[in-house]
Amino acid sequence: MPGFEIFGEEEREQVNHVLETGVLFRYGFDGARQGHWKAKTFEAELARRLGLKYAHLCASGTAALSTAMAACGIGAGDEVIVPPFTFVATIESVLMAGAVPVFADIDETLCLSPEGLEAALTPATKAVVPVHMCGAMARIDEIKSICDRKGLILLEDACQSVGASYHGKALGSFGKAGCFSFDPVKTITCGEGGAVVTNDRDVYIAADAYADHGHDHIGNDRGAEDHLILGANYRISELNAAVGLAQLRKLDRILETQRRNKAAIKSAMADIRGIAFRYLPDPEGDSATFLTFFMPNLETARQAVKALTAAGVDGCFHWFDNKWHYIRKWNHLHAMQTPARLAVQTLANCPDYRAISLPESDAIMQRAISMQIKLGWTPEQLDQRTRATVKALRTLI
Ligand SMILES: *Cc1c(COP(=O)(O)O)cnc(C)c1O
Repeated sequence: MPGFEIFGEEEREQVNHVLETGVLFRYGFDGARQGHWKAKTFEAELARRLGLKYAHLCASGTAALSTAMAACGIGAGDEVIVPPFTFVATIESVLMAGAVPVFADIDETLCLSPEGLEAALTPATKAVVPVHMCGAMARIDEIKSICDRKGLILLEDACQSVGASYHGKALGSFGKAGCFSFDPVKTITCGEGGAVVTNDRDVYIAADAYADHGHDHIGNDRGAEDHLILGANYRISELNAAVGLAQLRKLDRILETQRRNKAAIKSAMADIRGIAFRYLPDPEGDSATFLTFFMPNLETARQAVKALTAAGVDGCFHWFDNKWHYIRKWNHLHAMQTPARLAVQTLANCPDYRAISLPESDAIMQRAISMQIKLGWTPEQLDQRTRATVKALRTLI
């Protein structure tokens, strides 16, 4: 799955350009950098690839989410609809904006469902953050049309889904803004990094400024730059951007390999009765980082992970029992353990997250198992893995 599997000469070459000039900062030093603008080049190539006008790189996917929230004007008193199956960074960025995360059910896409979204709407709803989990899409066209109809901001968390698309249109490009992560376990990596992408010039200008203390980045005299707004330091360094640039240029190869490997395992599993696959609104657009399937119930799902692991099939996740990605095990959120900087008012506005009930999401997550798709499998390993998977699952149901 992740780009680090194919970290190589190309990444080293890009990083060496930066090391040779000694300009690690993404802005200024025009003379000293000998024409190397890694962050800017990455941004231009990412935007082009996504079919969007603008991309702004940040220090992480979390920084990108916070930057996008600020740039879209999401803040104190607003409610933001989020799914319970995500990485907790989505929720943290809403809280850090001073807004209130409101959880809504997912469906068999593993992502926020349009029905769940509708049921969670209130007069205070300001934005919707669907998360395209595990490399593939939510029912994003339906979600977008609800947002358009209700006048809500659509902000896509596409951190796990770079390269994926829905009917030819890149995930992350449907709303007012989209966010990506390039942390070490994502499809492509900067080491640490993320991006805000948009077609909206005002959102881009605000994101570019917010991530660097509000600087307008006009001209090349840093001391003479104006501040458009108050902001933060969510900048990426040229070193990280250089790694990411080399990785971005490998994305097509990564997608091709993942899709081929996933298709081999999926087709071998297709005739195991009792197993269903994750619903993909556009199978062609799946980036294929994971193969997700549903066992008949919680019990067989737990047995399946054990059986697969025992058969040497590693990289299988039962998210329902996993502490990282599903609300059920987010004890720190339940207890609202937060640093002092989270405004008292934000805490007061939030519901009691221990009491959130999401029966449809639970029913789906109890049965879901995701198998990581690797780039480095040899044909023999893939074949052996496929056979071991089918055999282990057949004995269970
Ligand atoms: C990884 C991830 C993030 C955060 O990205 P970082 O770069 O690790 O900060 C946010 N949302 C989702 C869904 C993620 O998977």
